[in-house]
Amino acid sequence: MKIVICSSEVVPFAKTGGLADVSGALPLALENLKQEVIVVMPGYSCVKNAGIKINPLKPGFSYATIGKNVKVYFIENEEYYNRAGLYGEKTGDYPDNLLRFSFYSKKTLELLKMINFCPDVIHCNDWQSALIPVYLKTNLKNDNFYKKTKTILTIHNLAYQGLFAAEQFSSLGLDGALFNIDGFEFYGKINFLKAGIIFSDFITTVSKGYANEILTKDFGCSLEGVLNTRKKNLSGIINGLDYSLWDPKTDKQIFANYDASDLSGKKKNKKELQKLCGLLIKEDIPLLGFVGRLAEQKGIDLLSDIIKDMSKLNIQIVILGTGDLKYHILLEEVAKKIPHLFSLNLKFDDALARRIYAGCDMFMMPSRYEPCGLGQMISFKYGTIPVVYKTGGLSDTVSNFDPKTKKGDGFIFTDYNKDAFLSSINNGLAVYAKKDIWQSFVKKVMSYNFSWEESARKYVELYKK
Ligand code: ADP
Repeated sequence: MKIVICSSEVVPFAKTGGLADVSGALPLALENLKQEVIVVMPGYSCVKNAGIKINPLKPGFSYATIGKNVKVYFIENEEYYNRAGLYGEKTGDYPDNLLRFSFYSKKTLELLKMINFCPDVIHCNDWQSALIPVYLKTNLKNDNFYKKTKTILTIHNLAYQGLFAAEQFSSLGLDGALFNIDGFEFYGKINFLKAGIIFSDFITTVSKGYANEILTKDFGCSLEGVLNTRKKNLSGIINGLDYSLWDPKTDKQIFANYDASDLSGKKKNKKELQKLCGLLIKEDIPLLGFVGRLAEQKGIDLLSDIIKDMSKLNIQIVILGTGDLKYHILLEEVAKKIPHLFSLNLKFDDALARRIYAGCDMFMMPSRYEPCGLGQMISFKYGTIPVVYKTGGLSDTVSNFDPKTKKGDGFIFTDYNKDAFLSSINNGLAVYAKKDIWQSFVKKVMSYNFSWEESARKYVELYKK
């Protein structure tokens, strides 16, 4: 089958979060399943830094090759994409995102014709590519080239919807009548994701748990009504992890390679991470990590409450993240009080992220909601035990460890408050204190397989359907 993956970020070319990991790995897994797949993304200036040759195609378009022979096409536009960020900078989103991503969507459909790649399925991801199904079903509905093309929209995070002022609607080049309650209109604004949900042939999200949650008021981000109308065409497929990129045995960025047969390399990683972060170098003190976007979703407030209490717990914490200014300020405030125990790194840094996964004993994910979450899967592979809130993809992939039966894979809290989070950390610390149990626990989670194979197969089944 001919598949086009459309995504606004793709590893190794551009990344702010898990969407890029997925969009880089899924095409390669589909290629292994003998599908004919290409990827289309915006040609941001950072794509040049991936270390992969970019080939010119026609003015405004270029491409590179990943995997055995998967072409990644770039939609170029100096004015729109030659910027420091993908969607915005510290001060907020770029004000012309409507233009930047509607341009990307229109040009993608032009490109496919130009290269004569007539797709069976266009697989869109999140609001940035959600207009593609809309253009196909409206402006291009009589276009023979796309007669047989079906669309899938995967929602990686329902909270990001692409909202814009109503006055901008005319810039989309669509019939003005589409700005109504059954189309783009959402509390007086333009909503790209809502339109994508309505116009795509099928909708998926990145775990079964989240697929159920988004139909409810608590998790539906005010789109639960629209999603319920599409319930028959909505399912959840869990993300995988690309073990060719995430494996402590081969990871070039960490301090020492290791696998479950010999954990001495993991000890070395802990020591070097403590050194790098200016923490006391002590093998026995539990080291807890966090890597993620500093957004409300990720539970940074809960995390900062724990940090305030951490000297009583006798633990060290290392945090790597970037995002909302208010969380930068909050974490900087608490950091001042506890040097040598707490390391705060407010940046995006792939190498440091890997060193944290490798060097820590536990990995904290107190996310309020989590569509899938890759951090817990990466942690398993690096022998770092996750402490998570029971939600979405986290509850689909982590179960609570019982020291008596030795069943379970992490420490889970089910009430969303500081005390519950603290008590799950304490449960972890109690097991950590029993060295032999901890060692076999670590080895067990390292053997888990969350590879893409199974999930890619499920996508192929869906494409065929
Ligand atoms: P989300 O997609 O909501 O951001 P996920 O857990 O699905 O969360 O994926 C996050 C991905 O982004 C992981 O690969 C994680 O290691 C990476 N990541 C997040 N923040 C940073 C950062 N500041 N530096 C390096 N990598 C990061």
